[in-house]
Amino acid sequence: MQSKQQTIDELLNGLDTLRPIVLSNKAREREMRTLLRRMLALLETLQRTPCIDPELYTRVQTLLSLLFDAEHGILLKQAHHTEDTTSLFRSFELHVKERKTLIDAAQQDLPIALTMVRRGFDLLGKPHPNTDDLSTNFNQFKTCLREYLQDNHKLKLEFNLLTSALRQSMLAMDGVLSEVGADSPELKAAHDALEKDLPSDPAQAQALLRQARSSILQAGDKLHHASQHVKQAITAQMEQMNTLSKRLEHAEAQARNDPLTGLGNRRKLREYFSALKENTSTTFLMLDIDHFKHINDQYGHDAGDAVLKQLGKMLRVAVRSTDMAARLGGEEFCIVLPETYLAQGLSLAEKIRQEVAQAVFPTQHGNIEVKLSLGVAERENDETIAAWLKRADEALYQAKQAGRNQVASASSKH
Ligand code: GH3
Ligand code: MG
Ligand code: MG
Repeated sequence: MQSKQQTIDELLNGLDTLRPIVLSNKAREREMRTLLRRMLALLETLQRTPCIDPELYTRVQTLLSLLFDAEHGILLKQAHHTEDTTSLFRSFELHVKERKTLIDAAQQDLPIALTMVRRGFDLLGKPHPNTDDLSTNFNQFKTCLREYLQDNHKLKLEFNLLTSALRQSMLAMDGVLSEVGADSPELKAAHDALEKDLPSDPAQAQALLRQARSSILQAGDKLHHASQHVKQAITAQMEQMNTLSKRLEHAEAQARNDPLTGLGNRRKLREYFSALKENTSTTFLMLDIDHFKHINDQYGHDAGDAVLKQLGKMLRVAVRSTDMAARLGGEEFCIVLPETYLAQGLSLAEKIRQEVAQAVFPTQHGNIEVKLSLGVAERENDETIAAWLKRADEALYQAKQAGRNQVASASSKH
């Protein structure tokens, strides 16, 4: 949308173009029609704008309407002199005659145009030129109108409103920028520009505001980049934290698990014991591979490791999720069975022994046979963990002594 100033300029230029045409009775109908319609439209727009005295525009509009009538008259006068006698032309001719009266009226009205312009001067509170020449009057009126617009306090008020709006958005952005730690010479420039007294010349005032606005836009861009930067930094930090927590999780798991077999280690076992319910039947299985040293010696340490790994897997499968299978060290393992009596523990021990004895342990050097000895002990009332495990260990020793590849039940401490 064009500004009021532009509209008025266009209007005044239109008057300049029209005036000599009308006065010389020259027919440039299409050009004139287009121009006049445009000018009337502009005037209607201007009449609705709040900053200019509506009465002034009503008067200018009346003046233009008179000029418009004159234009009609000139056109019809032209048509009157043509030779065409078609019926269409006859009706047109009739119309021409009717309009002829209007031509005369319009031409008589030219002095009224001068009066109108002079009233315009009066409205603006300015003296009119000491001449009846319409052209001089129009030109001076044009200058007066411009000056009027420059000094109009409502116009200035509008500029001030705009200024304070810009100042607010500047302060808001300045706040965010200082939060993200970005300095802002752009906002300072905008601030300086808006702090100055607004020039009374609208063109200068507009230039100042335009400059302030572009500074604010630049600052906005910078803010956008700054916030992108902060966002990126936060994303990077989040990723770092994720990696770190995964590593911690891993380290945590490593601290409680045996890396070779994936079973729990002694630490995890200790924690498991401390969480065990007292005075419920709990059975402990101690497992030891028979002659494991031979396996290592015969097939190599790697083959021994593979055996430990496979046994770990088998034990994990053999137990319930609430049980605890752990590697105590070397080729020694254990299983804690909560809510389990000795008899149930013994049968699980026997089942495991058989499964392992029948299982195939493949190594690079062929399949290996693995045998287990197991000692089983049910925890007695008020028995300490250490005493309970000791009895299981003793049972294991008995199984070894009795020829290995077998299960032995611990004797009661009583
Ligand atoms: P027994 O039937 O009396 O239990 O005899 P054994 O040979 O199984 O027992 P011994 O304690 O004499 O030997 C255990 C061997 O286990 C000795 C050690 O080198 C081996 N060993 C301990 N830890 C590991 C390991 O992580 N990997 C391998 N491959 N061997 C291990
Ligand atoms: Mg051993
Ligand atoms: Mg052994």
